[in-house]
Amino acid sequence: MKVLVLNSGSSSQKSCLYELAGALPEHPPEPPWQGTIEWAPLGQLANLDVKHAGSRVIHEERAIRSRQEAIEHLLHTLWEGKARVISGPEEINVVGHRVVHGGQEYTQPTVITPQVIAALSRLAVFAPLHNRAEVEGIETVERVVGPVPQVAVFDTAFHSQLPLPAAAYPGPFEWLEQGIRRYGFHGINHQYCAERAAQLLAKDLDSLRLVTCHLGNGCSLAAVRNGRSIDTTMGFTPLDGLMMGSRSGSIDPGILTYLMRQSQMTGEEMDDLLNKKSGLLGISGVSSDMREVLTAMASGNPRAKLAFEMFVHQLRSYIGAMIGVLEGIDVLVFTAGIGENSPEVRATACGGFGFLGLKLDLEKNARPQADQDIATPDSAVRVLVIRAQEDWAIARECWRLARDAASVDLRLRAQDETATAKASQFQKLKETERP
Ligand code: ADP
Repeated sequence: MKVLVLNSGSSSQKSCLYELAGALPEHPPEPPWQGTIEWAPLGQLANLDVKHAGSRVIHEERAIRSRQEAIEHLLHTLWEGKARVISGPEEINVVGHRVVHGGQEYTQPTVITPQVIAALSRLAVFAPLHNRAEVEGIETVERVVGPVPQVAVFDTAFHSQLPLPAAAYPGPFEWLEQGIRRYGFHGINHQYCAERAAQLLAKDLDSLRLVTCHLGNGCSLAAVRNGRSIDTTMGFTPLDGLMMGSRSGSIDPGILTYLMRQSQMTGEEMDDLLNKKSGLLGISGVSSDMREVLTAMASGNPRAKLAFEMFVHQLRSYIGAMIGVLEGIDVLVFTAGIGENSPEVRATACGGFGFLGLKLDLEKNARPQADQDIATPDSAVRVLVIRAQEDWAIARECWRLARDAASVDLRLRAQDETATAKASQFQKLKETERP
């Protein structure tokens, strides 16, 4: 089964193709094709990179007339040119999309129908940059690949069963009715890391209390018990919680009303300030990139030092909060760019939990291998570094849905005619997978 995955972000578009035969592999496989577009403003040159398994990256700079056209061009490299990996778009069995916001309606991977597209467009009020880019990606696939079954995998879904006391904000009760509540994000990776941790430790996921720390450009924590997210730091938007690369994370809401009164800032100006000019970048004045902050700190830059210290202070503070919610901790997971690559951040964060018997193996922490336990054998808490594998997690969900195509049929028939047509494609796809 060939599964194409599209991960459409506001600043980049990542795609990959997985080829799955028989049962799912135990470890994430390397995709035979990966394509990335780093977006530039329309009319300017954007960077397109295509990587084939085991070979070098083919780089291209291309003027962007529209985002759809750029995605179309990227997808064509799958079956056109010397480096093609399939003979034509009809070889693709299913396409999975990362969708940032599924609201309260979407709590499971969902086959995309016109109704789902309409709902995603409606939910764009909650995540304007992301959901629009994702709908564009879905429509482009429909045009370029043809009538292939498409599946939405939601970043909010893993947190959809947060207990109400964790999900509700203490504003007026009516907020809940208006959908103003904690949704949480990065759920695809939090769920993947929780499952991968249980697999690596050879434990039943239901028996573990985990804190998963997704520390990339965006940062969030999740508290996982019985395989479910029971608390998380991102909230109504991905701006809540930890300090991030260029996002502020949680701040006193009184600062916003103060700024509104004092400098008549508009909503858009505030969005820009809090999303693009805050966090590591805002404090250090150097960069939103942790590597550059660490380099500046090492050369004596006091603002870079403050930015790092604030970051790890907040990280410790939120890990502590999650441990309280979980009533203990068995496993602490670090994942995404900073979590996987910064021994300084991991060591400083873990340093706060020696009192719980958490002991880091400093050598392993300095140079962890992929998906490794970096705690000492006698540590009371396992500490794992797990590579973020959102695309693989999405491909797995597509595979599972296709395997259970019969149940998909039933759900879809209840929806509409287009959906029924897609369901029969799923049925065909299931049949081709039979030995
Ligand atoms: P995204 O959230 O966009 O997917 P990533 O998961 O790639 O982002 O994480 C990007 C962050 O990871 C940046 O802050 C970058 O500086 C950080 N990072 C990458 N490599 C290192 C490293 N060796 N040391 C510290 N931070 C790193």
